[in-house]
Amino acid sequence: MDDREILNLTSKLQHANVLGTILDLLQWDEQVNLPVASGSRRSEQIALMSKLFHRASTDVAIGERLSSLEGRPEALSANDRTIIRWARRDFDRATRLPSAFVAEKSRLDSEAYHVWRDARERSDFDRFAPFLRRQIEMTRRAAGYVGWGERPYDYCIDCHDPGMTAGEISGLFETLRAGLVPLVREITASPAQPQTDWLHGFPVAEQDAFLRDVVQALGFDFTRGRIDVAVHPFCSGDAADTRLTTRFQEDEPLDSLYSAIHETGHGLYEQGLPMRHLGTPLGKAVGMAVHESQSRLWENQVGRSRQFWQHFESRFRRAFPRQTEGISFDEIHAAVNAVRPTAIRVDADEVTYNLHILVRFDLERRLFSGELDVSELPAEWNRLYRDWVGVVPASDAEGILQDVHWAGGMFGYFPSYCLGNMIAAQLWAAVQRAISDLSQDFTRGHFGRLLGWLRENVHQVGRRYDTRELVQKVTGEEISPAHLLKYLRDRYGSLYLPETR
Ligand SMILES: [Zn+2]
Repeated sequence: MDDREILNLTSKLQHANVLGTILDLLQWDEQVNLPVASGSRRSEQIALMSKLFHRASTDVAIGERLSSLEGRPEALSANDRTIIRWARRDFDRATRLPSAFVAEKSRLDSEAYHVWRDARERSDFDRFAPFLRRQIEMTRRAAGYVGWGERPYDYCIDCHDPGMTAGEISGLFETLRAGLVPLVREITASPAQPQTDWLHGFPVAEQDAFLRDVVQALGFDFTRGRIDVAVHPFCSGDAADTRLTTRFQEDEPLDSLYSAIHETGHGLYEQGLPMRHLGTPLGKAVGMAVHESQSRLWENQVGRSRQFWQHFESRFRRAFPRQTEGISFDEIHAAVNAVRPTAIRVDADEVTYNLHILVRFDLERRLFSGELDVSELPAEWNRLYRDWVGVVPASDAEGILQDVHWAGGMFGYFPSYCLGNMIAAQLWAAVQRAISDLSQDFTRGHFGRLLGWLRENVHQVGRRYDTRELVQKVTGEEISPAHLLKYLRDRYGSLYLPETR
């Protein structure tokens, strides 16, 4: 094999990737630091960088190298094949959409966003409906250009979670719902409801200091990453420079802490990707669901466990002596695991969150199959919320109009959140089989054995496999909702339904 050809390809991919990281940094800065009146300059900077990034990613030389390398598969190593497979996929998706289509889509995204914001403010779904129709139509066209015209919704899913299909997810979600809806009913009917009214008046400076200790203890490397404040928490950057954000309110101390732990989970994945392959598919995350499995595992399986709080309890009390006075360990632990059905997805707890996703997936799937018309959405939304979540939204603003995703034509993105929860529970079961007494580490503030296992089995693997293959390799089974159901029943059963245990 002529090594120069693959090196030439990877250097072009890395060049495009570096431009992408500059774009990320501009967007991070926009969320974290940008002075209020500097927005229009930033828009110009972002537009220019987007153009340069797109130009570099669609460089005809990448296409030529790919064709040449694909013509000699017998000469390729396993790593080369991984790089070529993903580079081909990304290259085709970036080059097959006609530029007139791309321009039309970006105009629609911007217009639909403003209409959605206005419609949500006035709780007026009819105002948003024509734009939602157009977004669905544009998605069908995009799928057609890329070669998925027969299966537009599968195309949407594949964009976020390579290798997954709507049919497969349907089966998984059906089983999950059958177990979850009755569990939530039992929890809400339980007399053992946690007290959360003591969670007020937590000074921001102490919250910040406390969560930094936690993030550091979990293993986040502050020499190549940082944590700042943004309105909506996120993680951006890559293994070389990982940026986390959280947000603070005196009366929501758990929101800042668990947002930070969640983003730390994303950040640990990024920091664990193989640095020597930075900017190539071997140094990239598999997809959204696996990324989300990392954030959820640290946030929930670790961060809401008794053992985690046994270690951090004293530090927490030192930071907030007045606020925690008279509050027992069990009350703290119950409060961080409070389950309360709500109409709003982003306010949902670990258990009911999944039901919010099941509603969105069911509606998206039926919209794309033609079983459901846009005009029927609000009524269907409210019906599913009543039957599955156990809550009826007070208005369309709190119902069908609550999320920004559909305004931007982001279909097939929601399922990743719930798949991430399933994969997290499945990985959690696997790591506990592999390492005995793992949770006991947490009582001593040791998280290194868990992180080491994730590094070896998930992070270092990069994109060598797609979502399904990775889960199968690491856990020995196909993706399944059984582990998530068992984990939720165990944890929340012991808190809410002690008599059934
Ligand atoms: Zn996340």
